[in-house]
Amino acid sequence: MSELSPILKQATPVLAERGEGVYLYGEDGRRYLDFTAGIGVTSTGHCHPRVVEAVREQAGRLIHGQYTTVMHRPLLTLTERLGEVLPAGLDTLFYANSGSEAVEAALRLSRQATGRPNVVVCHGAFHGRTVGAASMTSSATKFRGGFAPLMGGVVVSPFPTAYRYGWSEEEATRFALRELDYVMQTLTAPADTAAFFVEPVLGEGGYVPATAEFLRGLRERADRCGALLVVDEVQTGFGRTGRFWGHDHFAVRPDVVITAKGLASGFPLSAIAAPRALMEKAWPGSQGGTYGGNAVACAAAIATLDVILSEGLVENAATQGARLREGLAKVAADAPAIGDVRGLGLMLGSEFVDGDGNPDPVTAVRVQQAASAAGLLLLTCGPAGNVVRMIPPLVVNADQVDEALTLWQEAVAAG
Ligand code: PMP
Repeated sequence: MSELSPILKQATPVLAERGEGVYLYGEDGRRYLDFTAGIGVTSTGHCHPRVVEAVREQAGRLIHGQYTTVMHRPLLTLTERLGEVLPAGLDTLFYANSGSEAVEAALRLSRQATGRPNVVVCHGAFHGRTVGAASMTSSATKFRGGFAPLMGGVVVSPFPTAYRYGWSEEEATRFALRELDYVMQTLTAPADTAAFFVEPVLGEGGYVPATAEFLRGLRERADRCGALLVVDEVQTGFGRTGRFWGHDHFAVRPDVVITAKGLASGFPLSAIAAPRALMEKAWPGSQGGTYGGNAVACAAAIATLDVILSEGLVENAATQGARLREGLAKVAADAPAIGDVRGLGLMLGSEFVDGDGNPDPVTAVRVQQAASAAGLLLLTCGPAGNVVRMIPPLVVNADQVDEALTLWQEAVAAG
């Protein structure tokens, strides 16, 4: 008899049998409102018919067209189609399987293209679990602890987390940029700095949106020292925040965009996009992989893009996000345990605190568990695990948002 490793930690007790739209159906015969979307992946809803059809069709034609051996049409078509949504100038793509791998790819590109060793990352960021990406991650010690030594050449600088310090966004931004300058005077000289990596919304770190001023500050510093600005859109991309890219909220120009999760509706696919002149500085053949840019995953991504654009899912994320946020704020107004509600679009978090304003993960997890037991699947995040997040599929409608809010209100009241 073999069994699953206890390394895995499961956030809900559900044994999923099938999924349809915003609902998951358990083997127990129950229906669950899935406001986790598989950690922000199934943006088109579970098993969207157009995605299923594209996958079926492609699987019958070619499953594995290994991209360092042969080229295949889905990869070429996807590459062309992504031009419709990528920021101007970021017209060259490299594909991998997971967000972590894409982060590694951006890290290698940054170092190879600049010939410099160091990357600056934000304190509280999550960039992945492979060793390079884990070295750039500080959203919780569980992602780093016990694996030491991690990779060198990573310098951590603050993210503007206003709520944590009881500051305004302006104060938090000023602090973060001042500290960044200090970091560059003391820890990484401009000539040693290859790139700044940033999430438009700190994801696993607690659903804290960046500020326009902070991202502008990163851009200015990158320009000044000839480093790259790499935006990790793994969780925020593909409409999640109510704009196509999370950084669209802040009018900043990235050099590299990293995408995964929502890109392929659940198939393992990730990509980095950068200008051709930058990609040309990478060493040919220094990146690749057996499965990257898998043909079925690419077919799923093309269908995903079609669905997102033709069904207006980015707009829906903005509309339903506003409705959900308003409802969450109402619940928080009557719940002293919720100190803050924040996020962008359909990427929203409620932060649980005790009477002194300290993180209260015990209540957060109790409420998350109660909601899940009542039929609303949720996840937590944040360094202390005290932020309950909502990331439903982008196809969610007003009735489903209201249904989730009712279940949420009951779970919070019982919590
Ligand atoms: N970057 C960000 C911003 C993420 O949210 C995640 C996943 N939560 C990753 C990278 C890593 O992606 P993956 O789990 O696909 O390796």
